[in-house]
Amino acid sequence: MSQSPYWSPVVRSLTPYVPGEQPKLANLIKLNTNENPYPPSPAAIAAAQAAAGNDLRLYPDPDATALKQAIGEHYGVPPEHVFVGNGSDEVLAHVFLGLLKHPKPILFPDVTYSFYPVYCKLYGIDYRTVPLTETFSIRVQDYVQPNGGIIFPNPNAPTGRLLAVREIEQLAAVNQDSVVVIDEAYIDFGGESAVALTAHLPNLLVIQTLSKSRSLAGLRVGFAIGDLALIEGLERVKNSFNSYPLDRVAIAAASAAMADRAHLEKNCRAVMATRDALSARLETLGLEVLPSAANFIFARHPAHDAAQMAAELRRRHIIVRHFPLPRIEQFLRITVGTDEQCESLLAALRELVG
Ligand SMILES: *Cc1c(COP(=O)(O)O)cnc(C)c1O
Repeated sequence: MSQSPYWSPVVRSLTPYVPGEQPKLANLIKLNTNENPYPPSPAAIAAAQAAAGNDLRLYPDPDATALKQAIGEHYGVPPEHVFVGNGSDEVLAHVFLGLLKHPKPILFPDVTYSFYPVYCKLYGIDYRTVPLTETFSIRVQDYVQPNGGIIFPNPNAPTGRLLAVREIEQLAAVNQDSVVVIDEAYIDFGGESAVALTAHLPNLLVIQTLSKSRSLAGLRVGFAIGDLALIEGLERVKNSFNSYPLDRVAIAAASAAMADRAHLEKNCRAVMATRDALSARLETLGLEVLPSAANFIFARHPAHDAAQMAAELRRRHIIVRHFPLPRIEQFLRITVGTDEQCESLLAALRELVG
């Protein structure tokens, strides 16, 4: 659609994020948006059902106290050090406005979550990208330079590569004049969280989501953990935007999901086992696979074009994600599905590259 004279200048200047396709077709093998192939905790579903009653005529708790308590208990932090939002994308939006909008440009990797530059545009934040190494790793020394803040996912997206928590500690310790934000959307799939470091690093903020490891992408719940002053800054933004970002169903179900540690662990173990087996078998098909600590795999074939492979897979009813972006245009990002889904993917790839 063409531009409208009713649009504000801000809207005219935006370049919105394009989410992965949510196809209307049935029978597709959907390996494109890093959803979890396994169901959420039964306790979370029961809590959602119990919350879907007459009480929905009432506003929810604007502070989502029960959920902050459940998250605090999971990580051994006081609930006042927890901020919650409508998906971690909303938490991130408040972080960009409330903690990363400063006169100096912020820093993030050249290959990373493509929502970050979108938020910069929305809020008028200047940024500089820092190139990943040849092997697509983050080198923390490269971030030791003047900045208005630093943000990256760990493990990084869409590469899946993990950074040791000790390196994050070193970076936050030498970067005390601005905030270091670690987006841990995929940390439960084998990485070590930086949450414990927030107790002694007042400039470190850790963000997580229930969308991936807890199989609740449809519920829209994310959170941040950090020093009291950082959390208070986020609450000021939230209470200037929407006092009730989480509804009653979401608060109840997310609290139950956070309390069900056994389900989380069982689920993540299954995804990790499938991931490691899939990585090995992709390599036997001649693909180059980056080491992944996430629930997806980032891989390329030296002799087959990634966009073409994605199109061929789609013809076979398998959808994966391809980013036509510098440095990664020959990669495919493949979400780890069930063992059965991965077998179908491997069979299709064998036909394509065989
Ligand atoms: C999926 C993802 C998010 C968004 O998660 P939601 O909580 O579903 O909004 C944030 N950051 C990264 C790196 C992600 O991959």
